[in-house]
Amino acid sequence: MAKAIAICNQKGGVGKSTTAVNVGSYLAIAGLKTLLIDLDPQGNATTAAGISRSGLEKDTYAVLVHQLPALEAIRKTSIDRLDLLPASLDLAGAETYLTSVENRETVLRQVVDPLRASYDFLLFDCPPSLGLLTVNALVAADSTLIPVQCEYLALEGLNTLMHAVNLIKQNLNPSLRVGGIVLTMTDFRANLSREVADEVKRFFKDLVFNTAIPRNIRLAESPSFGKPICLYDPDSTGALAYQLLTQEVISKEGSN
Ligand code: ATP
Ligand code: MG
Repeated sequence: MAKAIAICNQKGGVGKSTTAVNVGSYLAIAGLKTLLIDLDPQGNATTAAGISRSGLEKDTYAVLVHQLPALEAIRKTSIDRLDLLPASLDLAGAETYLTSVENRETVLRQVVDPLRASYDFLLFDCPPSLGLLTVNALVAADSTLIPVQCEYLALEGLNTLMHAVNLIKQNLNPSLRVGGIVLTMTDFRANLSREVADEVKRFFKDLVFNTAIPRNIRLAESPSFGKPICLYDPDSTGALAYQLLTQEVISKEGSN
């Protein structure tokens, strides 16, 4: 039965989609069948996984709003064992739709629970907000993976996020855990990056993964080629870091 991980942080541009696509790829390469579910209308994970968003009709929106069977929308990617439920700009309309239905927080859970038998991991790439799409991801997930960018104000918003996770745990999804915090875009030559990393570790202790993701131009380039880093530049420092992070995710989730 699949473990479901919501990759979330309401702060924009912290590395959620980069983490979703690259951890997803390395899970698949490690032999684990993985479904990446793009929950962001920006569709960055979709593009980065090599699927074109133009003319996309069978997408997360159709599944959540028009009850299209997920199996009809799920696509194979260029990586064996990595599948994708793609998103397009239409998904922006899903927030409004969800506010109008009674089971607004559990629509995604109902869609993904039947898929758990076919996968080892489900990864949700969340949008940069704490709106209903993110709430649906947290309700459907077993754990969260929170990327934190090593920059000024990194901790800002994390308390709000933790509060939201706790509320959902108390009210809608008792089995939800904070799976871990991953420091992203680190540059330990810079004092600020080191200070922020130390501060996050002081605050969140064991929740912080040992592996930090360095700022690496190859990671930033790869989405424009529609390739995860394992295909674009498997020897880059970014690739190595995501490989190590994935190993930590596997051992952490395996022990839960
Ligand atoms: P959003 O909140 O808009 O969905 P996000 O949290 O998903 O953003 P990403 O899209 O993964 O963040 O990353 C933001 C930008 O930073 C992208 O242009 C991405 O290519 C780049 N980026 C992400 N991680 C790294 C890294 N480790 N090194 C260099 N660039 C990175
Ligand atoms: Mg994103």
